[in-house]
Amino acid sequence: MNARGRQRTDSTHVLGAVRSLNRLECVTETLRAALNALASAAPEWLRVHADPAWLERYDRRAGDHDVPQGEAKRRAHAEQIGRDGHQLLAAIMAPGAPIWLRQIPAVELLRQAWLQNFSIIGDDPAAGPEATPLVRWRTDQEGFPPSLLMVASPYDPQVHYAKKQSTIWIGYKVHLTETCDEGGPHLITHVETTPAPVVDRDALEDIHEALEAKGLLPDTHLVDAGYVAADQLVASRRKGVTLLGPAPKDYQWQARSGEGFTVQDFLLDWEREVAICPARRESRSWGPDYHQGRTAFKVRFSTSDCRPCPLKRQCTRSARRLLTLRPREEHETLEAARTREAQPTFARDYRQRAGIEGTISAGVRVLHLRRSRYIGLAKTHLQHVLTAAAMNLIRLGAWFADTPLARTRQSAFTKLMMAPIPA
Ligand code: SF4
Repeated sequence: MNARGRQRTDSTHVLGAVRSLNRLECVTETLRAALNALASAAPEWLRVHADPAWLERYDRRAGDHDVPQGEAKRRAHAEQIGRDGHQLLAAIMAPGAPIWLRQIPAVELLRQAWLQNFSIIGDDPAAGPEATPLVRWRTDQEGFPPSLLMVASPYDPQVHYAKKQSTIWIGYKVHLTETCDEGGPHLITHVETTPAPVVDRDALEDIHEALEAKGLLPDTHLVDAGYVAADQLVASRRKGVTLLGPAPKDYQWQARSGEGFTVQDFLLDWEREVAICPARRESRSWGPDYHQGRTAFKVRFSTSDCRPCPLKRQCTRSARRLLTLRPREEHETLEAARTREAQPTFARDYRQRAGIEGTISAGVRVLHLRRSRYIGLAKTHLQHVLTAAAMNLIRLGAWFADTPLARTRQSAFTKLMMAPIPA
């Protein structure tokens, strides 16, 4: 295998090996799971502390009970579950309770899920001396933790909810990387399994580190737009890898209109920390800023320059122009990637990336890549590694048997329209 050749990567969603639960079902199941764990680990303790009413509420799985219809009734139902969970947690945390009860994984998960889904708004005066708190079912207005932290199922704490375009799922994500040089078999060089909410670009560093550890870093890495960000372009280049994919677009109105002044229209003097605008005016201030979790610079022009400026209509809709710049290396690398994308050679070089979609499709259709058979990230990853190994064996077999690579299928209509017109 040519370690410094070209490789390509793409990802797909993986459904966890657990039932998808909505939020109400998830808290119900989390409490059921904790009760079942305690019934096995501490039956005598639970018999004393369990409310007899819980048998009716938690004897069957969520979904088998009738859930009240209507917003107010559903909320009251959820808050009853919230009170039950808090009552159980209060008994577990009470001074006389065995400490090890708190260390039961299902109990720890119950504690997390209750923090995430309920707010405590006071003590219930009707509950007597062993007061359980008054709880409120959290709403969108109150906000929730990021989905990477949110408990999505008590039966696999590592599955999480995620959404990518129109696909919504609970589970994981897998990234496949394969060689794509001409003249050799296309072999999968790395499999990365991540929690579902991890975006593609955040997986890239781990993929490169793993390839580097195996001595398999490519010269050129073909990826889709989801993997390309300014910081990833810089990090890849530092490793000697050219990241080839569509660069992030400039979505400001000036770029979208096609007539406004974008940052490319300004001269940037990084040493002096001054920007010069198309009207030859110098910026008033250049200071650090924290933009979308990354350090950036805010460059401001003067209102006294911008207000009377004859070019203002193309430049800003505010009293003065403001530029947001990334750190210099990222800015310049991103601009270079955008320039490269405009070259005719880019489309030709980038065409090779499409083959990874066929690899993912084969993994999904033949080896059920998109459905985890196991609980937990580690075992799901092992499944993916074995799937990739099987695909490599199939490919090597085809290579040694001189079986040509399958060509991308074309519809009858496409074939007709692409065929030369008979003379
Ligand atoms: S509006 Fe301000 S920043 Fe824009 S061209 Fe005119 S003077 Fe320069």
